[in-house]
Amino acid sequence: MEWYVKQRLEPDPRVDADVERSCTSKQQYKDEEDAHVHALMNGMGDVLFSYECRYCGFWHLTRRPN
Ligand SMILES: [Zn+2]
Repeated sequence: MEWYVKQRLEPDPRVDADVERSCTSKQQYKDEEDAHVHALMNGMGDVLFSYECRYCGFWHLTRRPN
């Protein structure tokens, strides 16, 4: 879906709403290590991986695909 994001020149309020919902419903971590430590504490170090959110600038944890 990269092409879609790049071609989106005008702010789309529907997308913004989705981003706001996902960012606020997910825990936000200040950096990669902070996110990883929390995954380990939850015993989810092998299940979750961290990524830097391009929308809010914090790090989130998400399940590894498959
Ligand atoms: Zn976010």
